[in-house]
Amino acid sequence: MTQIQQKISTSIPKEVTMVLAVLQNASFEAFLVGGCVRDLIMGNKPKDFDITTNATPEEIIALFPKTFYENTYGTVGVVTCGEDDLPACSDETVKIVEVTPYRIETAYSDNRHPDEVKWSKNIEDDLKRRDFTCNAIAYNPMTGELIDPFDGQSDIQNRIIRAVGSPDLRFGEDALRLMRAVRFMSQLDFDINSVTRESIEKNSHLLKNVSCERVKDEFIKLLMTDFPMRGIIMMKEVDILKYVVPELERGIGVMQNQAHSFDVWEHNLRTLQHAADKKWPLHIRLSAVLHDISKPETRRYSKEKGDYTFYGHDVVGGRVSREILERLKFPKEMTERVSMFVRWHMFFSDTEQITISAVRRLITNVGKDNIWDLINLRICDRVGTGRPKEEPYRLRMYESMVEQALQDPVSLKMLKTDGKRIMDVTQETAGPKIGYVLHALFDEVLDNPEKNTEEYLDKRAKELIKLSDIELKLMGKAGKVEMEEKNKEQIKEIRKQFNVK
Ligand code: ATP
Ligand code: MG
Repeated sequence: MTQIQQKISTSIPKEVTMVLAVLQNASFEAFLVGGCVRDLIMGNKPKDFDITTNATPEEIIALFPKTFYENTYGTVGVVTCGEDDLPACSDETVKIVEVTPYRIETAYSDNRHPDEVKWSKNIEDDLKRRDFTCNAIAYNPMTGELIDPFDGQSDIQNRIIRAVGSPDLRFGEDALRLMRAVRFMSQLDFDINSVTRESIEKNSHLLKNVSCERVKDEFIKLLMTDFPMRGIIMMKEVDILKYVVPELERGIGVMQNQAHSFDVWEHNLRTLQHAADKKWPLHIRLSAVLHDISKPETRRYSKEKGDYTFYGHDVVGGRVSREILERLKFPKEMTERVSMFVRWHMFFSDTEQITISAVRRLITNVGKDNIWDLINLRICDRVGTGRPKEEPYRLRMYESMVEQALQDPVSLKMLKTDGKRIMDVTQETAGPKIGYVLHALFDEVLDNPEKNTEEYLDKRAKELIKLSDIELKLMGKAGKVEMEEKNKEQIKEIRKQFNVK
């Protein structure tokens, strides 16, 4: 075994090696295949390990104590324990290894499904039906044997996405491959081979025949790569973007006001790219790429300002984003969340006076759970305009105000009693005296938090109510002042945390 092979072998999980060994010991052929082989060759960590074999589904099932088999592509899920091959193990250690027989596909009359799937005894048949050369390599880690009939290794070396065999035929069979080519380009940071690329352009219209669900899933995968901006630009260049999110293209050449260096299209994409650079989750990436989707239709020239304005692009954009995501059949929850982010992404525009009540209103509108994501979107938006600094003073100030609004202020609400209870225990009727007692109690509790019990406060209220109005008033006032002091301290502490004054 060469050093490289040894290195590769150690990164293959035990349960995968075990399944390969069981198949091979029963005299079947068994290889790792597809994305995992590509990733191992590139020195990347594979997401999942797929095994292919000349055994039929029935033969695979017969070799393992526990399997499940439900799909039409012949894939058998082998249930393993991760560490050893005992069938009885706890749920956490269960690992499923997928094994698929060598497949041959017959004609694709609908550009998306093979008319028939057949098993083959020949590994080359199976590699032939795969999409790109880098994904069409089989590897036997037991012997180090690599089966690579389309020279995927040199394409990996040269970082090229190339269709296996005739690109026109391959895209004609399954038009989702048009998007997959672009996704792998962005995921692996490869280029697309020129013949393959021309074929994508020529066959772009076939994407219409692919179901929304598959298009959506592939679009998600593209957005989640490290280079989604490159991917979407490529989708435009090979003319498939118009079948996925044509609305994005309207931003091309739409110049903005003086604060922006880029047109609306490039700004949306740069905002998305920053979200990817930050490894933000899908909802932020979707919101980023869609946030200015409605700038083209809301752009007006203001003579007064001598510049363009985009009033209402957030409101219209929220609506348009919802339409786009509904059309692509995103789950309802994601659609709602992203359209809400687009709707509120302007919360902090430079001209706006920031007040704590405005911050509170915003939190009410988007919900506590979303507020920090919205701020992260805002940072992406800023970086997407080409400004170098991620977090200027003003933004940090805003963040500290969000923190302030989220933290409960020091208030009478913290007391384990209230006006009504005090009236009950003291038999006193409503009036300013009750307020004085409350504040006096509060003053005590601020200094001695352990006194904040119903029992103590009831007892103390009965004592306090006996004092004269003047005495009580003074004590109450002291409590109020102390409360204000504490609140100021809390805010100061938060400001310090965000490095603002
Ligand atoms: P990832 O690392 O994103 O999982 P992958 O290469 O494993 O990438 P999958 O979509 O998981 O991609 O598919 C596994 C393998 O199955 C691919 O490498 C490819 O060989 C084959 N394959 C998957 N989908 C298609 C398709 N639509 N047409 C042809 N081959 C495909
Ligand atoms: Mg995979």
